[in-house]
Amino acid sequence: MDLSSLPGLGPKRIKALNESGLFTVSDLLYNIPRTWLDRTRLNKIAECKAGDNAILIGTIRRAGLAYGRSSRYIATLDDGTGQVSLIFFRGLKHWSKSVSVGSRFCVIGKLSDYRGLQIVHPEMQKLEDGEEFNGSIEPVYTITEAEHAAKIEQNFFRALYPKIFALPNLTIPNSPPAELLQFLGVRNILENLKRLHTPKTFAEAMQAKMQLKKLELLPFCLRMNVRRRSLVVRGKSREIDENAIAKAKAALPFALTRGQESAVKKICEGLSGKKQFHALLQGDVGSGKTVVAMLAMLAIAKSGEQCALMAPTDILARQHYKSLKPFFDAAGIRTALLLGACSATEKKSISGELQMGITQVVIGTHALFSKDVIFQNLTFVVIDEQHRFGVNQREALLQKGHFPDLLVMSATPIPRSLAMTLYGDLTPIVLNEKPAGRKPVKTRLVDPTKRDDMKKFLLKEVQSGNRCYWVVSRVEIDGVGNTLSVDEVKEELESFSSLWKVGAIHGQMDEDERDRILSEFASGKLQVLVATTVIEVGVNVPEANLMVIDAPDRFGLAQLHQLRGRVGRGNQEAWCFLLVPNASPAHERLANFASTDDGFKIAEMDLQDRGAGNLEGKEQSGAWVFRWFDWIQDQGMIQKMLETAEEILDNKPNFSVEVQEKIQKWYATLPQGNADGVH
Ligand code: ADP
Ligand code: MG
Repeated sequence: MDLSSLPGLGPKRIKALNESGLFTVSDLLYNIPRTWLDRTRLNKIAECKAGDNAILIGTIRRAGLAYGRSSRYIATLDDGTGQVSLIFFRGLKHWSKSVSVGSRFCVIGKLSDYRGLQIVHPEMQKLEDGEEFNGSIEPVYTITEAEHAAKIEQNFFRALYPKIFALPNLTIPNSPPAELLQFLGVRNILENLKRLHTPKTFAEAMQAKMQLKKLELLPFCLRMNVRRRSLVVRGKSREIDENAIAKAKAALPFALTRGQESAVKKICEGLSGKKQFHALLQGDVGSGKTVVAMLAMLAIAKSGEQCALMAPTDILARQHYKSLKPFFDAAGIRTALLLGACSATEKKSISGELQMGITQVVIGTHALFSKDVIFQNLTFVVIDEQHRFGVNQREALLQKGHFPDLLVMSATPIPRSLAMTLYGDLTPIVLNEKPAGRKPVKTRLVDPTKRDDMKKFLLKEVQSGNRCYWVVSRVEIDGVGNTLSVDEVKEELESFSSLWKVGAIHGQMDEDERDRILSEFASGKLQVLVATTVIEVGVNVPEANLMVIDAPDRFGLAQLHQLRGRVGRGNQEAWCFLLVPNASPAHERLANFASTDDGFKIAEMDLQDRGAGNLEGKEQSGAWVFRWFDWIQDQGMIQKMLETAEEILDNKPNFSVEVQEKIQKWYATLPQGNADGVH
């Protein structure tokens, strides 16, 4: 049933709902509330402290716009026991109109302490004159930017759902298979959804949500366990050319760390084993994963088989090709680089050589799993920066070989319980030390008023032979005018001094041009590189030891950690400057980030910060995105679900293969998590 059949929905609103991924009544039904306002439990400001999730009712006493690098609307709410500030960074026009002095609101949000208690982007519900606190349970939905612009707010959804449930003969087309529902003790999915959208008690809503989480988690765990079990027994083991590895190691300009040695050993053991080997190599940025993969690939290529190394960006693939080719050349192994940007003729010739087995190693991007690429004997697949690929992309490349071995590499340090869920089908190998002599990157928060002082410092460093990245969050002015673009910063730095040569790169640039500028920076011809996040993953210029991040509050902490990982790769002192106003609400979060270099700690902080299913931002695909399951709150469920999945596969509760397929088919129809809600 599509949305136009619902009462009170005009084309403008339908368009906004579509843009938010809601196309049918069934999508709407599965679009469950983010939380519920338990208005039976109201808080008093006087009894609140930072960190609390509070529900407050009060009157707006003061309100106004504050301009600056990040303009905001600030209102003071007074509930008779105390006051809190309400801060809005987006939708300034809207909020300055609706949140006016004298109006009454029910407000929900997390309190933080910044010169007194404040809530950034609270839920706001206006109370009409005389409207009283009625002690009901109210669902709170995620509102997207598009919905907000079409005036779709909480009250819209709150009024809509009772109407939907009142429709005669309401059915839900993509209902979970009956066997799954029965197994998890869900009697009726529609009834369950109704309890989420129009609950009578808080407990009822929570219980119904728990059921949905199980419905989501079990198929996921099943899928992963099936994958783990499907690793085949090859029958005969593979000979690893220890000599070739020893020779390549000796030719390296450095000695391997103990962690690298042991990782190489474990991988070679796995590769020589009788069973197909799928492993995850996890190591913080700069821990030296590439050389480990290189040695493993060498072993495979030496035994006459083929390997593919897939990287998420062109820049990274080219860089890998450049640094690995000389090693493979020296060992008599033919290597090719395959990118989307290659011409049709190039692609044809590379693919031909792969098909004939002339080329043993191919390095590339997504282009590798295009259907024209055929291998003669692909037996080893390496995926760099795994978190950038969805599970399906990983599978597409594996399909090209005959039960190939797999090594995925990730610098995203993820908490153990989470790793178990996401990568439970892979053997974990951890690189837990960095090459000797590395010093932690000194991270400092810099108020924009100190921008010129910072530039002076950078210039001095550059003059003594160092190099600097300057990261900007966007390419062009987006109308808000808060951050500068790549070109603006380049101009700024050039007019600041003629003593440094400045280059700029971004994602919309011609590949060759970008590559040229990057290599000029790597060679030292350019000393400052102004860039967007295109440099985020994998880029390796050991001589660069300075980094500036403009508007760091626009990035997640894990992403900042990746960016910061671009410096501190050599042995010089490394610096990272975060340009953020002292008064920014992000200041505390960023100061915490600056105080640690431990990727795991940062990942935990990021998780707490950004919440469920949103580890790396909304462009994440595949395994990361859960719609209902919450990594932080629900960690305890993972282990049990994995065990349940095992039991099902062991045929204890008898789920036939057909039922399992039905479950997976339903799972694939679930709408993906919606990560870009604003309030
Ligand atoms: P990441 O784990 O982030 O992918 P890279 O593999 O890019 O890290 O390695 C980062 C840098 O460290 C590279 O310049 C690499 O040559 C260097 N490197 C790797 N291993 C060692 C080592 N054992 N000793 C010194 N430098 C190393
Ligand atoms: Mg890397």
